[in-house]
Amino acid sequence: MTDDHCVFCKIIAGKIPSKKVHEDELVYAFHDINPWAPVHFLIVPKAHIPSMSHLGPEHANLMGHMMTLAPRLAMQEGCNPYPEGGFRIVVNTGAEGGQEVHHLHVHVLGGPRPWYKG
Ligand code: AMP
Ligand code: ZN
Repeated sequence: MTDDHCVFCKIIAGKIPSKKVHEDELVYAFHDINPWAPVHFLIVPKAHIPSMSHLGPEHANLMGHMMTLAPRLAMQEGCNPYPEGGFRIVVNTGAEGGQEVHHLHVHVLGGPRPWYKG
């Protein structure tokens, strides 16, 4: 369920410091160390799932939890309300998808434009 060499598993275990946004039995959420937007945090499963390509039907509950949590945490972290505000969800998957950390993570980006990236 965890990978000793994975940076996000180390963050979840508290071995690498992070700025926590939320934690429950399934997921951990924390601020991205290199933000692209005024609000930028990551939601990661506590289980070490390398990418979206590794998902099966058994992960439907986990993914549903992450997607329904995102709007609530976005507001909590300072994103402006829909429709003038809103947020962007990004899940990079694989090398061609731009994934650098191989522990599944949902980027939540928001706040006033312009953003640094995206
Ligand atoms: P990706 O390219 O989708 O794999 O994105 C990985 C993200 O993880 C990048 O936006 C990094 O800034 C972020 N990241 C890497 N290491 C850390 C860390 N120790 N704490 C917080 N965010 C991190
Ligand atoms: Zn991991």
